[in-house]
Amino acid sequence: MKRALFPGSFDPFTNGHLDIVERGHALFDELLVGIGENSSKSSLFSLEARVEAIQKSVMHLSSVRVITYKGLTVNACNDNGCNFILRGIRNSADWQFEHPIAVMNHSMSTAIETVFLAARESNMMLSSTILREIYRNGGNISAYVPVLPISSI
Ligand code: ADP
Repeated sequence: MKRALFPGSFDPFTNGHLDIVERGHALFDELLVGIGENSSKSSLFSLEARVEAIQKSVMHLSSVRVITYKGLTVNACNDNGCNFILRGIRNSADWQFEHPIAVMNHSMSTAIETVFLAARESNMMLSSTILREIYRNGGNISAYVPVLPISSI
C-alpha cells in the first residue's frame, strides 16, 4: 500500500495545490492532505475553513482525505501509516528550501521517501503568500483557488 502525505499550510489551498493532489492521486493508493498547525505561523484562514475548502476541492478524488496535525511531519506520517511525503516544486527557491528538509526527514525516518512533483507551468507563479496579500487588500482571489475558504480570522 503506497500512502502519501501532502503536507502544507494551504492558507489558502490553491489551484497549484490541487494540481499536485490530482497528480499524486494517480501515483499513490491513498493520499492524505495534511494541514500542519504551525505555531510560529499565524494563518489568514481558520483551520476549519481550510479543512472545509480542501474537502470540497478534492471531493472528486476517491482516495484523498484531509487531516490536520501538529508537530513533525515525519511523526504525522508514522501516525497515519504514510511512507511517502509529497511536495510541489515551483522554482529553485522551493528546491533550496525543500532539499534539506527532505534530507533531514529521511535521516529521522528512513522508511519515508519525499517525492517532488514539478509545478505545472501555468501554476508556477501561484503562491498562497501572494493570494493572502491580494485577499487582505480586498482583491478577488477566486480565479486562483478551487474553493474559496468561507471564513477568515
Ligand atoms: P508550506 O507552508 O509548508 O510551504 P504551502 O501550503 O505553501 O505549505 O505549500 C505546500 C506545498 O505545495 C509545498 O510543497 C509547495 O512548494 C507546494 N506548492 C505551493 N504552491 C504551489 C503551486 N502553485 N504549484 C505546485 N506546488 C505548489
